[in-house]
Amino acid sequence: MSLTETTTEERQAQKTYNALLAHLDDCSPCQSEEDCAEGTRIRRAVRATRSAVTESPALRAARAQARMATRDE
Ligand SMILES: [Zn+2]
Repeated sequence: MSLTETTTEERQAQKTYNALLAHLDDCSPCQSEEDCAEGTRIRRAVRATRSAVTESPALRAARAQARMATRDE
């Protein structure tokens, strides 16, 4: 199990998502739900990093555990 790798992927996904949010703040085409090249590029990167995180078995197990812990409260 490689927790370090998982954390790196997660951090990358978060960073990419933050970049998307920052871009949306500044970009009027994206704010009016039109596509711009940069927005499309970042959205694609967000999808890619997210699927990398989702496909990590260690993280999936940790998420399942966290969900069960939340449900118990
Ligand atoms: Zn944009």
